Amino acid sequence: MKRMKSLIFTYMFIGVSLSCTSTPSHEREAERPEVRTEETSLVESDSVAPAPDEQVLSDRTLPDTLVIAMCGDIMMGTTYPKTQLPANDGKNLFDDTKSITLGADLAVGNLEGCLLDGGRSRKGNGPNSYAFRMPTKYGVNLQDAGYDFMSLANNHSKDFYDEGILSSERILDGLGIEHCGVEGHKEYAIVERNGVKYGICAFGHNSYTIKHTDLKRVKGILDKLRPLCDILVVSFHGGAEGADRCHLPQGQETFLGENRGNLREFTHFAIDNGADVVYGHGPHVTRCVEVYKGRFIAYSLGNFCTPYGMSLTGIKGYAPVVEIKINGKGEFLSGKIHSFIQQKGIGPRKDTTNAVAKEMKRLSEDDIKNAVIKIDGEGNIRL
Ligand SMILES: [Zn+2]
Repeated sequence: MKRMKSLIFTYMFIGVSLSCTSTPSHEREAERPEVRTEETSLVESDSVAPAPDEQVLSDRTLPDTLVIAMCGDIMMGTTYPKTQLPANDGKNLFDDTKSITLGADLAVGNLEGCLLDGGRSRKGNGPNSYAFRMPTKYGVNLQDAGYDFMSLANNHSKDFYDEGILSSERILDGLGIEHCGVEGHKEYAIVERNGVKYGICAFGHNSYTIKHTDLKRVKGILDKLRPLCDILVVSFHGGAEGADRCHLPQGQETFLGENRGNLREFTHFAIDNGADVVYGHGPHVTRCVEVYKGRFIAYSLGNFCTPYGMSLTGIKGYAPVVEIKINGKGEFLSGKIHSFIQQKGIGPRKDTTNAVAKEMKRLSEDDIKNAVIKIDGEGNIRL
């Protein structure tokens, strides 16, 4: 993956200069640091020294098009409460989707469970227990599929207490996959690919996650992260769950007595405060997409790779990969909803009927008024 991405990079990139300046306001209305775009290579990647996080990025020359691939919930099989694992150690789970995630400059998802061998569950082991424990050796499947980042801000990352979270973090660290989202752990991650710095933060609704319902906390993280990166990506786990919750409501959502967020307010707030791309998951079904102030939002990407442990009936089996192109300022250029449907025990498989693209087109037309984008029946998203 890295070789493929750096080869692309060598031909795309760039002269980069870094300088320390005073931190500008990062509100969307304010002037953002100057970013120039250029098609041809001036300096090869190896000559670019890594910048310390404290440095403010300015006067950067970035490729004119960056590709980001986004996926929803990933839980590759579980050894708790009973063992339900795919064949071949899950090595074929991403066979149909990985050409997209490997080809993207940045590929992101949500790790809905922990990578752990052993440990003790916080939840019971009855038939309705939902505690997810993936074998640690399955982590490499994420790396093979080209993922750069996994959110841990969800309602399953702590199914096996802190031991589970720490194990997931250790495994992902070892594979070079960034992560964040748990309170008291990393507030944000920075992924550098092809000389471009992607800042990523992740929010959830559980007590142990960094909460998207706390806008002051959200702003604090965005303010810290914005000067450290070229492109700022926000992940969130939120919204009510189930096949009847595919529409994005106005106002706050509650589910199982929990505040699952006011997602229109949160996503717009994130963009107003510097986010360039926002992707959501949590409802186990897909929801609409939107472009707001030139920036892309996917409200829910549904179940993506959950071969066991979750219902895959009907629209709950819809598994899109949303691939977008943005410019060096983070502005949306175009996109494609790639359609897959999950098969039990197998993972996402190519859907030539484009069912999820049509579903997300329908939801977007219903739920986003005065939309600035159009989606066609094959999932192409155009301004
Ligand atoms: Zn969840």
